[in-house]
Amino acid sequence: MLIEHGRIAALAASGTTAASAWTAEHVIDATGKYVIPGGVDAHTHMEFPFGGTFSADTFETGTRAAAWGGTTTIVDFAVQGVGHSLRGGLDAYHAKADGKCAIDYAFHMIVSDVNERTLKEMDLLVEEGVTSFKLFMAYPGVFYSDDGQILRAMQRASDNGGLIMMHAENGIAIDVLVEQALARGETDPRYHGEVRKALLEAEATHRAIQLARVADAPLYVVHVSAAEASRNWPPPATRACTSSARPAPSTCSCPPTTSRSPRSRAPSTCAVRR
Ligand SMILES: [Zn+2]
Repeated sequence: MLIEHGRIAALAASGTTAASAWTAEHVIDATGKYVIPGGVDAHTHMEFPFGGTFSADTFETGTRAAAWGGTTTIVDFAVQGVGHSLRGGLDAYHAKADGKCAIDYAFHMIVSDVNERTLKEMDLLVEEGVTSFKLFMAYPGVFYSDDGQILRAMQRASDNGGLIMMHAENGIAIDVLVEQALARGETDPRYHGEVRKALLEAEATHRAIQLARVADAPLYVVHVSAAEASRNWPPPATRACTSSARPAPSTCSCPPTTSRSPRSRAPSTCAVRR
């Protein structure tokens, strides 16, 4: 394998005339080893603020660990705070990551506040290569978008070539169950899972898929944790332009595999773990 400027320039079987003609500054003997491309982890959250704390890995520690495991690109999530712009959120994450990462990185954009200004900003971000936008049907008051906001964002993505990523859980109903569990004194970690009913994930997943169909927009469902939710995927014959999904407890690296509608789409920088 001949590498030039970090890219594979040519392949040839060892011992062939073509391979013997190559010269290189640095030769690595991979006899007895696998040679594979670098992994792309399409869903990471470094230094992610949530629930009054932050995820443990910084862009520096997380990308060093990734490099040791063979992951050469991450796509992390920049966060728009409620009342703030997408631009400001993206710039803040670039500032966090700049000069710290051991590998390549890109960003998806978490949209916490869908409004007229945000929708216009989505177009600008797509033009500069940030083409995927994550919305939440959970966490009212933090990341939550209602169905109208979701539909508007999906329509915008349908027009500008973006991709909507969805955390699909009925957060309004979950918050009722949380309140009732707290009133009963159920505060152990297990109750976190128990109030997040599989049926409420299935319901939201189904709703997200139908909204995406109405908007004729591609959809990538993230953080999938329940079999009940996955049963909502439309059969392949009908999902030409709608949904794909990624399981929640995953550290593997695969870029979004959403089937896209035939219209042309902006090139995606997205590559992204939960
Ligand atoms: Zn995530």
